[in-house]
Amino acid sequence: MKVVLQNLTKRFPSRSKNGSDVIAVNDFTFEIPDGKLIGLLGPSGCGKSTTLNLLSGLQKPTSGKIFFGDDDVTNLSPEHRGVGLVFQNYALYPHMTVRQNIMFPLENLKGADKLTKQQMNERAVEAAKLVQIDGLMERKPKELSGGQQQRVAIARALVKMPRVLLLDEPLSNLDARLRLQTREEIRRIQRETKITTIFVTHDQEEAMSISDLIIVMKDGVIQQIGKPQDVYDNPINLFVAKFLGTPPINVFEGHVKGEKLFIGDEAVLNVPGVSDCDVNVAIRPEGFSLRNDGPFTCKFANLEVMGRDISVIAQHTACEAENIRAIISSENRADLTSEDTVRFALKRDKVFLFDRVSGNRISFN
Ligand code: ADP
Ligand code: MG
Repeated sequence: MKVVLQNLTKRFPSRSKNGSDVIAVNDFTFEIPDGKLIGLLGPSGCGKSTTLNLLSGLQKPTSGKIFFGDDDVTNLSPEHRGVGLVFQNYALYPHMTVRQNIMFPLENLKGADKLTKQQMNERAVEAAKLVQIDGLMERKPKELSGGQQQRVAIARALVKMPRVLLLDEPLSNLDARLRLQTREEIRRIQRETKITTIFVTHDQEEAMSISDLIIVMKDGVIQQIGKPQDVYDNPINLFVAKFLGTPPINVFEGHVKGEKLFIGDEAVLNVPGVSDCDVNVAIRPEGFSLRNDGPFTCKFANLEVMGRDISVIAQHTACEAENIRAIISSENRADLTSEDTVRFALKRDKVFLFDRVSGNRISFN
């Protein structure tokens, strides 16, 4: 089921007299292709949950429209939209067994959709198998681990065979290992069922690792939509560049003069076609090479060995952060000779320039 948002806006009136309204979702227009998993990504408070609530029908938009396929569902109540919802807090019924929890959404089906007890049970077992908890059907939620509870919640969302699956930070309450495992499970289930899925998270790594497409948002405004790798390789603005990637991108103040990029008074890269201007320079950690004759000189601070790679920690007065982090393949380590300075060459496709005022990307060849 393809999902289309058309100029979708949600405005919350200010609670105080002189305060301004919050536009939690600001003029969203995009199309989610059928059968894909979309990661809706942004910092806390940027409007992710509101977007999901609009899609599920729990909240009404201030303006704009939502389509599921060709159906305009904007004014449809949640129970008629055919959405499955999973939240951060799994909210299972504590007094019911796993089986009863999963069956619960089927109990209230009416008319032609009404199911017999036997049919409900079959559907519940099917959903439980999908998330691999069919061996735990008679347990109560408190007899399950956090990860198992979240699987029950996912099974419960799937049991009505939703047209669209909406997941709001579903892994946030799990510990690191379970988070990793459960996100792979979600990806597998999504591939198997081919249900169009929107996965909300503030965790860029999580979104990057499982999504077909990511939507990066900030303050209610979409910043960029694309395949995870494309967005990482071509961030449209400084916000997106900084939001994606661990360790984070390194940001410097710099300027362009005579088609050369300067950081401090060193010309570190040729940037043909760029007019003279002040810029922010963002360099991915993997964008540095250690070179004794490299054009970019930094103060050496520390070396962290991580097996396959080494991490060179350095400093520069033009850097926004205290430390620069460069990830270097360990074979390259021999080049680190001096005690107090380190010199780098820069990889062009890992260096991004942004207008110092607007934050917009400035391309170079
Ligand atoms: P996220 O899920 O990305 O953390 P939310 O969608 O929950 O963000 O919130 C987006 C913005 O809308 C925030 O500034 C939040 O304070 C505001 N907001 C959310 N719900 C309401 C509400 N019911 N009333 C007023 N403001 C709200
Ligand atoms: Mg939220």
